Order: sequence, then structure tokens, then C-alpha cells
Amino acid sequence: IPFAVNPSYILAGGKSIRKYKKQIGTANATFIILARNSEAGGLVQSITQLEKVFNSKYHYPYVILNDAHFTEEFINTILNLTESEVKFGFVDKDMWGYPDWVDQKKAADGRAKAVKDGVPYADSESYRHMCRFQSGYFFRHPLMMDYQYYWRVEPGVSYHCDIDYDVFGLMAAKKYKYGWTLSLTDYPNTLQTFWHTVVDWMKQHPEWMTTGNSSISKWIHDDDKNETYNFCHFWSNFEVGDLNWLRSEQYVSYFEHLDKSGGFFYERWGDAPVHSVAVALMLKESEVHFFNDIGYTHPPFMHCPTEPEMKSKCNCDPTKTFETGTWQCNPRMAKIAPNYKWSMDQLKQE
Ligand code: GDP
Ligand code: MN
Repeated sequence: IPFAVNPSYILAGGKSIRKYKKQIGTANATFIILARNSEAGGLVQSITQLEKVFNSKYHYPYVILNDAHFTEEFINTILNLTESEVKFGFVDKDMWGYPDWVDQKKAADGRAKAVKDGVPYADSESYRHMCRFQSGYFFRHPLMMDYQYYWRVEPGVSYHCDIDYDVFGLMAAKKYKYGWTLSLTDYPNTLQTFWHTVVDWMKQHPEWMTTGNSSISKWIHDDDKNETYNFCHFWSNFEVGDLNWLRSEQYVSYFEHLDKSGGFFYERWGDAPVHSVAVALMLKESEVHFFNDIGYTHPPFMHCPTEPEMKSKCNCDPTKTFETGTWQCNPRMAKIAPNYKWSMDQLKQE
């Protein structure tokens, strides 16, 4: 792979602090990480592995965001992990805070109820701000506006398989708008008014729904009439997607409708079901992609490809892949979308 030093510099707090290698991958894309200063250790793990299996060949940049300012120690730790460009950014109050229509007393009551219901992160306000940011704002953060595709990375995850093609290039070539590895069902108690809020919005914009053969909306319904939500969601801690789709009138209208209801705060709506329901309702089967070949763990779940030809590329145990356990939603997708098993075959053809 050719190597060149780009004349630009890594930015931290608006200051240029070091040179980085020129991007080799062909797409207009970035990794996106939301993290706290305390999570540098988890990012050492995630970024080291991501560079090893993929990005040391392609040098895609990173955007790393925080609702607090990153420390110099955090920045230096990250810069040691990659030769790519890294942009460190701040999320300010217009993207991370209570909107003025949210009743904070009602939000506090909602947290108390969530504690009674035994919901994870039941009493955390920051978790709710995080989910709202990931649902409606990360793609319009100023540092993200230059890019079309993103790959979300979190602290403490693992990538198990060598990836010897340009993942973002594939997204662009195939015009994919959303890609995932793991999918599962969510805690119903975190989403009690979510579905009827979505339905209200759908009624206002029936023209935006994908229908007919290319629709994958059956993935989110178990009932014959497609009237209820089965809580299936793509696990958004890994996702590769098209930022222009998230910035579209359709998606933004959807998000704003959900946001106006206050459900991010009164309940604890996750960004995973928010993204997933939008994907299932509005995208076509040909616009979504199951990254079967990206072996991935976000504790406690792992996706490990089971195809024999993947064995030499991966350091995970395919018998432990999540699809053989409970709560999974990938097999449901396999039933309704025949292209589900697609990735290996298609890559071989190219
Ligand atoms: P989980 O995966 O649902 O258990 O939630 P995580 O704790 O992993 O949070 C999801 C993502 O948001 C991770 O990338 C975290 O680093 C990030 N995150 C969560 N809460 C905060 C926060 O309060 N501030 C910042 N800056 N990042 C956060
Ligand atoms: Mn996580």
C-alpha cells in the first residue's frame, strides 16, 4: 500500500498537533466515537484491534466526541493508537441537554419508575442524553458534516476477523445506507410509549414508508397485521451508515417527532431501536447490509461468522456466535430478507 504524509495535521481543540497518513480508502467516511475521558483504556482496546484488522490498511479518520473537554492525556493516548487523522470535538448544550418542552419533574418520575421496573441505566440522566444525541444529533455535529459514511466504535469492543476490503467503499459502491452485525430484542419497559409515538408520525407521512417486496418492515412486527413492535433492533454500538440518510428530511422529521414527545427522558428510549425502526420502515432491503464477515464483540454478545472459509480470518469461536442464543433478531431477518446471507457470496463475485 502506498504511503504518503498528508500536509494537514491532527486537530485537537482547534490546534494542529501532528501529521497523519493520507487516507487510502476511497470513500468519504469516518469512524465516530462518543466517549468520556475515563474510557481511554477501553478505546485502547477497540482502536488497536480496529487498526489491526482494517484501518492500518485504509487510514480512515476518526472523529471523537465528548460532552466534556478531552484531557491532554486522553488525546495523547488516542494519538498513539493510529496514524490516521483524528479530530477531537466537543458536544455542546444544544445537542446534549434538556429541550425546553421536557418537564423535568416528569422525567425524574420516569426515572423512578424505571428503577422500579429494573431497567438498565434506569436512574441515569447522562445515559438518556447520550441516547438522544446518538439518535438525533451525532450526524449533524459540525465535525461530522464533511463526511458521508460513518462507522460507530465504542470503548471496550473487539473485532475478530481480518477485513481485506474497503468497508466504506462497499457502502458507497452498493449505495447501502445502513449496515449491522448483531441484532436483538430490547427491554419493553424502556419503550412503553415508543411504538404508538412512531405510529402517530407514520400516519402523517405514509408516503415515506417503504412498502411491497423491497420492504423489511416485517422484521419489527410479530403480529400478522404489522401493528405492534416486537422490540427487534440492530445493536447500534456497531453500525456503518450513510450520514446523508440520517440528515434527510425523512429521518430528521421522525427524530423530531419522537423528541417532541419527551420519551427519551420520560422513558429511556435507546438510539438502537430509534435507528432500527427508521431503517425498517423507510429503507429498502437493497439499502441495508448484514456485515456477516465482521466478527465483533460488545460484551456480553459476539457475532462470529460460521462459514468454514472465514475460519482462517477470524479469532473467534463460531459455536459461541450470538445467533445460536436467545433474544436474537438476525434469524428473523434471514426469513424475511433472502439477501441476509449475502455478504460472503457477493464479495467473492467482486
Ligand atoms: P451501553 O453500550 O448501552 O451499555 O452504553 P455505553 O456506556 O457503552 O455508552 C454508549 C456510548 O456512549 C459509548 O461510546 C460511551 O463511551 C458513550 N457515553 C455514554 N455515556 C456518556 C457520557 O455521559 N458522556 C460521553 N462523552 N460519552 C458517553
Ligand atoms: Mn457500550
